[in-house]
Amino acid sequence: MQSFEEFKISTPLRNAINDLGFEKPTPIQSKSFSTVLSGQDVIGIAQTGTGKTFAYMLPILQMLPFSKEKHPRVLVLVPTRELVLQVVEEIEKFGKYRNDRVIGVYGGTNMNRQKEALAEGADIIVATPGRLYDLVLSRALQLKLIKKLVIDEVDVMLDLGFRFQLNNIFELLPKKRQNIMFSATMTDEIENLIKDFFVGTKKVSVAVSGTPLNNIAQSCYAVPNFHTKVNLLNHLIKDADTYKKVLVFISNKKNADLLFSLLEELYSEEICVIHSNKTQNYRIRSIRQFDEGKNRILVTTDVMARGLDLDKISHVVNFDTPSFPENYMHRIGRTGRAEEQGSSLLFYTEKETDAKEAIESLMKMSIPEIEFPSEVEISDQLIPEERPRIMESNNLAKELRDENRGASFHEKKEKNKKTNQGGSYRRTVGKKYKKAKTKGDKNYNKRNKKRK
Ligand code: AMP
Repeated sequence: MQSFEEFKISTPLRNAINDLGFEKPTPIQSKSFSTVLSGQDVIGIAQTGTGKTFAYMLPILQMLPFSKEKHPRVLVLVPTRELVLQVVEEIEKFGKYRNDRVIGVYGGTNMNRQKEALAEGADIIVATPGRLYDLVLSRALQLKLIKKLVIDEVDVMLDLGFRFQLNNIFELLPKKRQNIMFSATMTDEIENLIKDFFVGTKKVSVAVSGTPLNNIAQSCYAVPNFHTKVNLLNHLIKDADTYKKVLVFISNKKNADLLFSLLEELYSEEICVIHSNKTQNYRIRSIRQFDEGKNRILVTTDVMARGLDLDKISHVVNFDTPSFPENYMHRIGRTGRAEEQGSSLLFYTEKETDAKEAIESLMKMSIPEIEFPSEVEISDQLIPEERPRIMESNNLAKELRDENRGASFHEKKEKNKKTNQGGSYRRTVGKKYKKAKTKGDKNYNKRNKKRK
């Protein structure tokens, strides 16, 4: 869809768009409009700056009739107060010729003012989860008429640990509603959320190109475990002339902290880290120091790296292998910008082989493998998630299966030591990515059944 005319939007919205001077919908707006309008649950993958706010708000406003009802019909949840203010502002721009009552509520400020505003009635509430919940508990707000739930920046929301609050809020919402989520990146946590609460979800995203830029040289290393990956990374980045500006991606913040603390001992002045547990000031400082070249190495999670505009990255290191191939494309796209030559390295363990192959099939090419350098020490030390899991003592069968898995893992490591790896891994039985994922909060279903 190329023009706003094709959306058949109402005159007040059309006039507001004209005033804003928007000539045509952005790609994510084109893709989302009819899907959101159809009323089905949607997950939109789009970064800030792509016009994502209007991508969900335009169809929602188009569908929202005038009402004198006191209780809101649309709820937009966002992770931060800054985003509350930004989204309210965007909705007001669009609703210039309409009479929607939009209220933004967020924590850290006086609740009474927000209660007074809510008492006047609202059509759309934009809120951070904690404050919204408090307002509902204090009876200043009722959610029984909510027909549309939007969760914006859901990746950041979950990364900040809002899952519990989201569950609580879901319990308070009418069951018959449309769920719309927007996220810059796809994560396992989002998949679980969709499985638990969404129905027949349609995914809309501006297709990630599976074709990497020609000026990015890709390579990969087979590495047995986390600590050996640290040794390998250290071995490589020691060469500061080659590894001038290195962006190291790692998927979760716990491991980001661990990696950072291990490397900090060796590269104290040269390394910084960003993830969502760090304060905003800390993150801003880290990014600036890296961008200005004061720090040579930046360790980051996928969620936090979105929206960063970094220049002249010499190397992207995929310290782990993303389980969503699109994330790999986004990661490596950070280097080789503006015609410059960039390099991307991927470290993968035996468990990550399937994820690596998924990436290769998206790109329709295999990533050239570099032989594991013989001078790099292979570590025996395992991080908790790499250790065989301790099972309940009455589950003998499971325990045995686990013991076997542990043994084969160690065997492989010995073998790798002798041959310096390089070869492809033998397939093992317990394929991580084919296993059924957790079913989430079982009690949620029970509770809902009871209510019926
Ligand atoms: P967002 O991704 O929602 O943060 O939007 C980024 C910016 O793009 C906002 O300032 C919007 O006002 C602007 N914007 C949204 N849609 C369009 C459009 N179709 N054409 C031009 N600018 C737009």
